[in-house]
Amino acid sequence: MSTNAAIARESRHEPQRTRGGDDTIAPAVRLLDSLLAEATRSAASDLHFEPDRAGLRIRMRVDGHLRDLAAPPASLVPALLTRVRLLARVDLAERRLPQDGRFTFAGPGGERVDVRAAFLPVARGEKIALRLLHHGGAAPALDDIGMAPRERRRLDAALARSNGLIVVAGPTGSGKSTTLYAAIATLRGPARSVVSVEDPVELDVEGVSQVPIDDDVGRSFSAVLRALLRQDPDVLMVGEIRDGESARIACRAALTGHLVLTSVHASDTREALLRLPEMGVADYLIDATLSLVIAQRLVRRLCKHCSGAAAWTGRVDAQRLFERAGLAFPETIAVASGCCRCNDSGYRGRIGLFEMAAGEDDAPLPFGPGSLGAAGLAHVLSGETTLEEVLARCPQPGDEPASHSGDDGEAKL
Ligand SMILES: [Zn+2]
Repeated sequence: MSTNAAIARESRHEPQRTRGGDDTIAPAVRLLDSLLAEATRSAASDLHFEPDRAGLRIRMRVDGHLRDLAAPPASLVPALLTRVRLLARVDLAERRLPQDGRFTFAGPGGERVDVRAAFLPVARGEKIALRLLHHGGAAPALDDIGMAPRERRRLDAALARSNGLIVVAGPTGSGKSTTLYAAIATLRGPARSVVSVEDPVELDVEGVSQVPIDDDVGRSFSAVLRALLRQDPDVLMVGEIRDGESARIACRAALTGHLVLTSVHASDTREALLRLPEMGVADYLIDATLSLVIAQRLVRRLCKHCSGAAAWTGRVDAQRLFERAGLAFPETIAVASGCCRCNDSGYRGRIGLFEMAAGEDDAPLPFGPGSLGAAGLAHVLSGETTLEEVLARCPQPGDEPASHSGDDGEAKL
């Protein structure tokens, strides 16, 4: 298998570094290979190793939810963890401080998978989280991310302009990068120069010059942004705006004839609209550049083979939410069950929910018409997801963000 081949190639350079000459090394190498292969096949975003009473708990995150994998024999655990440390090239002797590392392997289909490894000492030993960045497929198509026709037309109109700022908002794991990649994939072409600064580059997009951040060598967001603007680009993608300087550079670029696409960590369009002034971007600059704010979420899609329907008995006043969204409250609501095809979770795959605004005046209220919640309820009515999923992911009435003039400093960056 290619995974084995890739890892075996690397380990030839460092066999003597594993402590002791014991016979757990080869099985541990094979075990890690098979874990990485399984995570890749399942399109898992993360793989977790966590010491517990029995030895080691291994879980992977698929569709945003953690799932247990078989626990390894306790005798293999030390060699397995050492194997991860070796691959990630972290200090083997350092067990008291958090460490970060990275490595690359070839997935079952030969695709490159980049791994960011984070090591954290915990009371029972060490917790390791591996973030898997799959470079396999092409950039997703805008047609495939689940945007309704009306929203799609708004996005197309913003993308057709030669300048302006498009901001995608959502928490971690809400699909922001997928939307950004799908959007810039439609913009590349012979007549346009498309560049991006990302942390990290999650997907190779043909025809786009992508620059990864590397703070260790001083390649920060703002430094790369300034350098990119000297490259005469037409379209600039800034993976995520996290600091005021990057925010101001991006807005100024949008003002001076560039189409700028970026993301911010914010709950919905209203909160995203508060983020930019909070980061020190002047209101006039925002008014002059902002063409569209998109907020998004991913909710799990019900498994077709086992979903059912039942009257809502949850504690939340669902009828009020449906009414708020301008939708009729149904007598029965789709419910998750579980079967062998969905790993007993009741769900398979995910659905994108979107809300859009051009400014504060048209930003939807939580569960109001056009909101993330309303988009979710529409998918509940069509039996594609559950109300539990929508409630867990979407801002609800009463969750409105605190104003940016608030003095308790609760910035949710
Ligand atoms: Zn099922």
